[in-house]
Amino acid sequence: MILCVNPWIDDFTAYDLWAKPLGLIEIASWLKQNGFDVAVADLLYQHYPELSQKASVKMTGRGNYLRREIPRPELLKHVSIPRKFYRYGMSKEDASALLSRYPRPRLILLTSMMTYWYSGLRATVDFLKKTYPEVPVIGGGIYTRLCRNHALRVFDDIEIAPQETYSFLRERVRESTGHAPLIPSGPFSISPDYTYYPSLPYIPLRFTRGCPYRCRYCAGPLLEPRYIESRLEKIKLEFEYGYKKGIKDFVFYDDALLFSKERLLHPFLKWIEQQGMKARFHTPNGLHVALFDEKTLALMRAAGEWEFRFGVETLIKNQRQPLDVKTDWHDLQQLAALLLKEEFNLEHVRIYLLAGLPGQPRMEVEESIKMVKGLGLRPIPNEYSPIPGTPLFNNAVKSSVYDLQEPLFQNKSIVPCSWEEQTWRDVQELKELARS
Ligand code: SF4
Repeated sequence: MILCVNPWIDDFTAYDLWAKPLGLIEIASWLKQNGFDVAVADLLYQHYPELSQKASVKMTGRGNYLRREIPRPELLKHVSIPRKFYRYGMSKEDASALLSRYPRPRLILLTSMMTYWYSGLRATVDFLKKTYPEVPVIGGGIYTRLCRNHALRVFDDIEIAPQETYSFLRERVRESTGHAPLIPSGPFSISPDYTYYPSLPYIPLRFTRGCPYRCRYCAGPLLEPRYIESRLEKIKLEFEYGYKKGIKDFVFYDDALLFSKERLLHPFLKWIEQQGMKARFHTPNGLHVALFDEKTLALMRAAGEWEFRFGVETLIKNQRQPLDVKTDWHDLQQLAALLLKEEFNLEHVRIYLLAGLPGQPRMEVEESIKMVKGLGLRPIPNEYSPIPGTPLFNNAVKSSVYDLQEPLFQNKSIVPCSWEEQTWRDVQELKELARS
């Protein structure tokens, strides 16, 4: 048996915005489709029958993780923010009960996400090593790709997967089991299998990988350098699979969903309407304001209910231009006018902004918040997280009081690039302002 594990998260705060480890699920599905016995242990999942605690999760599937307070890692102890530190996910005891369901694995595959969550990954590796001392563990995922050298150093008791994951895993699986899976024929050739979850209130959908834009703060282009589109028939099958099971919530994991709208999203929505199906759709990664239009909105509404999130980041011109070219104030005004004209409920619209950018003063975020609110829309300021390898990272390093080469200091909750004109406290007040 091959065990795939989604690790614990260590952080000041974490919220489950329909986050499932899609890469890990694809790998598990690939192995299963190649005839291997596979299990997925998602330590963040809130609905295993073994769990001794319950987390509050909304009907649509987003909600809280289970958590318990833990001491801060040594390096974060001197960071003076009045926040407790938590380990998110099930307890060790519940994790042991979950693993006891499965036979002893021959190989363990472990994913990772945010760079600054690596202490949760370390705790997961320690737990797995104690439970299965002789079983080889391979780590992959976002943190290991963005901070490879750090991961090689901190996780020298496991193997870290290289960029070419599938050919590498093929060899390791062959060594552990005596059989080698076939390499997937393309980036969308695997159908994700969600039966690893006892009950899932939603299904992730992905029409595209990568993003044609190159925003200076974003890790997307590093993780998915090419923009690639899936096939309409494949997406229809994945939607139909969930819909027939009675699932009504579908979550787009795309970074650039609207970029392919004429080829994929529009025909998909027309098909849903023709079939007489209705669903609820969510866009946690944010949509492109400039690519949203009347036709898209009409097709979307005919297919069901939508909760829109749009990535805007800042509306102040001198902040915008060096950051990205994806949208501007004019696009946002047009979006608001369209939504109002079509009487779309603005309660279901969120506008993502960035706070705490290198050298950004509080006034600029405040101004953007007011501009968004002035249009009747709800701003969500998110703290900037410096990501190694992105063009903005060097600016962040220069403007931070922390050593940003250390991933723990890349944590957005500490506002790594705070300065006298935008302190940690300012960012909390900006969030209040956005909510009020
Ligand atoms: S548009 Fe979004 S996903 Fe694409 S590079 Fe910019 S921030 Fe990243």
